[in-house]
Amino acid sequence: MTTRPVVGVLALQGDVREHLDALRGLGVDGVTVRRLAELESVDALILPGGESTTIDKLLRAFGLFEPLRARIREGLPVLGTCAGMILLADTILGGTSDQQVLGGIPVTVRRNAFGRQVDSSEVTLLWLPDGKPMNATFIRAPWVESMGEGVEVLATSPGGRVVAVKHGNLVATAFHPEISAGSRVHRYFVDLVRHAGH
Ligand code: GLN
Repeated sequence: MTTRPVVGVLALQGDVREHLDALRGLGVDGVTVRRLAELESVDALILPGGESTTIDKLLRAFGLFEPLRARIREGLPVLGTCAGMILLADTILGGTSDQQVLGGIPVTVRRNAFGRQVDSSEVTLLWLPDGKPMNATFIRAPWVESMGEGVEVLATSPGGRVVAVKHGNLVATAFHPEISAGSRVHRYFVDLVRHAGH
């Protein structure tokens, strides 16, 4: 891996600019990804929050779904936040009938899991990689309902739900780290990218 990895942010739908800002704050080159050539040029990718059903449809419409799935299988480091967590889960609950996921992390994730009364909330949780409290913003967020082998828990909600995981080069958070968590989740991901050896 070069010392200056290029990190893409999938820019089909969702909060792209905030992720680019977080990367810039870390001195990392962030680029938007909408086309196959752009996907092929990045060393890592962020799947932003938004609406997983829409991102799924757009990935397919833009011819990115299968190539991205293949790159994930080859070890591309990917950070998925909220809708991005849903897209990285091997299995989802509460999806629409035609909804597909990229998969890669052996977890079952429930969409919109926290219920309507907490459509949006900011809570303090412990970010286990550095053992310090983190402000986490949840927006119609999923949670991890069950996990397979080799999945590392990075954070749980105050109610004890798993809300951030790592598996190989894949990291997923149910919350939006680009909104209130400073750049710690991005820093954690960029460190992983630097060590991923691609
Ligand atoms: N509920 C959304 C979905 O299912 C995710 C929400 C978000 O990304 N903030 O895709």
